[in-house]
Amino acid sequence: MDDWSVVVVGGGPAGLLAACRAAARGRRTLLLEKNRRPGVKILISGGGHCNLTQATDARGIVMAFGPNGRFLHSALAALGPRQLVELFEAEGVRTEVEPGGKVFPASRLARHVLDALMRCFHRSGATLATEEPLVDLQRNRCGFRLATTRRILTAETVVLATGGCSYPRCGTTGEGYRWVQKLGHTIVAPRPALTPIVTDSPWIAALQGIAVPDVLLTLAEGATGSPAGPKRKTPLVQRRGAILFAHFGLSGPVALDLSRAVSVRPRGQRPTLLCDLLPETSESRFEQLLAEEASRSGRRRMASILEHWLPRRLADALVVQARLSPERRSAEVSRPERRRIVETVKRLSIRATGTLGFEKAEVTAGGVALEEIDSRTMQSKRVAGLFLAGELLDLDGPIGGYNLQAAFSTGHLAGENA
Ligand SMILES: Cc1cc2nc3c(=O)[nH]c(=O)nc-3n(C[C@H](O)[C@H](O)[C@H](O)COP(=O)(O)OP(=O)(O)OC[C@H]3O[C@@H](n4cnc5c(N)ncnc54)[C@H](O)[C@@H]3O)c2cc1C
Repeated sequence: MDDWSVVVVGGGPAGLLAACRAAARGRRTLLLEKNRRPGVKILISGGGHCNLTQATDARGIVMAFGPNGRFLHSALAALGPRQLVELFEAEGVRTEVEPGGKVFPASRLARHVLDALMRCFHRSGATLATEEPLVDLQRNRCGFRLATTRRILTAETVVLATGGCSYPRCGTTGEGYRWVQKLGHTIVAPRPALTPIVTDSPWIAALQGIAVPDVLLTLAEGATGSPAGPKRKTPLVQRRGAILFAHFGLSGPVALDLSRAVSVRPRGQRPTLLCDLLPETSESRFEQLLAEEASRSGRRRMASILEHWLPRRLADALVVQARLSPERRSAEVSRPERRRIVETVKRLSIRATGTLGFEKAEVTAGGVALEEIDSRTMQSKRVAGLFLAGELLDLDGPIGGYNLQAAFSTGHLAGENA
């Protein structure tokens, strides 16, 4: 019999929790997953460690999503970060909070998070169909008609949780948008977010592998030719955290978090990133420290003095960017030259030429327009019986467990109502 009360499409965190909740309420529930097994992104999340949420309250999660975060109030009231942690702890997954608030399984194994979800799933009595992608979805008189690669199904209600189009090799190729659009919904243009930033500076490529734990990165209007950006630029977005130099440009949490602002800009526009490599120290204080260091050890290379604060290869490159020889002794550096070094360290100007796109994006910005969804139930306001959850929606948060939390919470709420 292929008539179901609820068919959930997509076995990511949103779909798995939606199916668990719907089945636990006694609804005859089928979960369709295109891959050989569900939860592929859970397994690769947080570098295989799965940063499942953030140690904050519902308000903290809402704020992190910016203006669209308001949409999450009801979903977080039903399943907030604390309840999510309790859910996993009740399944035997002990969690730990890292400094900065990221919550991980204590084992640091994403597999344990997925195993726990699968235990909930099987207990709930829901049915799983893997390697069975949905290929068509239509509304009919009594509900929905769904076509998969294997069969035709009917369902009273459908939960679509097919994710966005980031990391398409995980199965998330964005087909959910097509059906939702056909059913009358608006799609806010999908864009890659949390993806590495590409630059066209060969000297940045040469820094590949260098990590700096604390930088302030600002996306500013306009481009400059000089390595040190001017003091007054209009800051568009600003993030602070760790950065990683790569052969293509910039990666690491702070670059990923800023990338949505780069990918939203029209092709050909090359925004400037201003990088403060020592955000704890003001320009004047840094200049004073350099001068003191130079008078104490004047025979030392200027670059080796910078190594006191920054990795060696980066220190060498910065001295060159300040138009000085890396061999220059600190006592030989004039005041204007020292000023140039300070500006290069505190306002390093890097031109972004784009991002690595959906291929490497951890999430998709854009998606199903939120005003067309009832945030109290996750039901479509356009199509009765259709529920939407997870990354398919126009919601994308920063790094730190926010995106998985949103997927879990919206999936849970959809399953409570479908
Ligand atoms: C590399 C990487 C690391 C990440 N790390 C973190 C992290 O540490 N913390 C965090 O909060 N977030 C992280 N994220 C983001 C997080 O994984 C996603 O936001 C989250 O998985 C979205 O959940 P979802 O259920 O909406 O969609 P997804 O997890 O994308 O699941 C959608 C599912 O739908 C299936 N599907 C698609 N089309 C069909 C179809 N036609 N028929 C049937 N099934 C279909 C897909 O195969 C997929 O299994 C990371 C993402 C990536 C790519």
